[in-house]
Amino acid sequence: TTIQAISDKAIAGAISRELVRQQDQIELIASENIVSPDVLAAQGSVLTNKYAEGYPGKRYYGGCEFVDEVEDIARDRLKQLFGAAHANVQPHSGAQANQAVFLALLQPGDKIMGLSLAHGGHLTHGSPVTMSGKWFNVVSYEVEEDTHLIDMAKVREKALAERPKLIVAGASAYPRHMDFAAFRAIADEIGAYLMVDMAHYAGLIAAGEYPNPVPHAHVTTSTTHKTLRGPRGGVILTNDDDLAKKFNSAVFPGNQGGPLMHVIAAKAVAFGEALQPSFKDYAKAVIANARALSDTLIEGGVGIVSGGTDCHMVLCDLRPLGVTGKAAEIALERAGLTCNKNAIPFDPEKPFVTSGIRLGSSAGTTRGFGEAEFRQIGQMILRVLRALGANPEGDAALEAAIRAEVKAMCGRFPIYGA
Ligand code: PLP
Repeated sequence: TTIQAISDKAIAGAISRELVRQQDQIELIASENIVSPDVLAAQGSVLTNKYAEGYPGKRYYGGCEFVDEVEDIARDRLKQLFGAAHANVQPHSGAQANQAVFLALLQPGDKIMGLSLAHGGHLTHGSPVTMSGKWFNVVSYEVEEDTHLIDMAKVREKALAERPKLIVAGASAYPRHMDFAAFRAIADEIGAYLMVDMAHYAGLIAAGEYPNPVPHAHVTTSTTHKTLRGPRGGVILTNDDDLAKKFNSAVFPGNQGGPLMHVIAAKAVAFGEALQPSFKDYAKAVIANARALSDTLIEGGVGIVSGGTDCHMVLCDLRPLGVTGKAAEIALERAGLTCNKNAIPFDPEKPFVTSGIRLGSSAGTTRGFGEAEFRQIGQMILRVLRALGANPEGDAALEAAIRAEVKAMCGRFPIYGA
């Protein structure tokens, strides 16, 4: 079976309850996915025992011949997936991949420019609560109020006025294509570095279904666990030989100690899966499904940020239904539909309340849901949220009925054996 027996009763109990939760609810969190049993097995392997500070062939510990094989395979597959000359697969997370790039390219006090958190950027792109915001001088670009799109002429204007040393493209809540070539042209005009954080889009990019930033950026970072469907972790890619050395030093010893070789093995397995032709079908289905969900919600009166989606992500403006993101997240969870509240651009609500929710099709598509299921999911969401709009307590009977529908749909598309 995929889930190995664990003798520690307290932990085994919580894990088995989490397994059932994943099996019986519909996962709509855009940053999550469902890894294969092979990825799980690699991550649960004896490689967790191994110290391997350094890089393949240049380790600070003995006994690394087999983990060297693993890391070489992971790097080669990753380079092949994205057409990159150099890859570092050691960052423990997306945040640490970004930190390593900052450590390699910047000094404290340098200026960086990224998409504002309130408009879809990630915390690590300059939010004052993170290292990026505490150690660097941050300026942000935003999306347009009418289109919800990034206007590259305005990004250029800001870049010329502010002259940041590093421009960050990429986002956690931006459902459209980004013009990476235009970002690079702006960076070149002011002598800045372009870093693209492709975390959300990586799987779609690997499949050729979203524009590839790697040919344009000085450096591309990513997580491995979102659309790319691997274990939790980070990676760094570049085509620049000199920068590649700097990123390697910044990851280890700059920012981390020993690499998580079991996670790197799981990354390698996931990259191998993403190289299969079937992964292209998966990525196409992810986007078609997100569009089916978005269309259903639009027909039901939900505002969709930017009017639709080019990826796995659907950012909903719930103000037309008279509910907040916070209340919607809680009510949908009661009905077996898991998502997260999310600020929409120019959100009048506080960040802990928000006017929106962010939905994603990556996990549902992995379990086999198609457009018909995503339209049904859209209808379920509308029923829950309309009831919530009519009564702030929600409709308990309706939520229970939908929870049963959710469970039945999940039963038709089992994961991990159920
Ligand atoms: N970058 C982007 C664009 C993200 O959306 C995220 C995670 O949500 C991260 C980085 C951080 O990744 P991690 O949670 O692995 O640190």
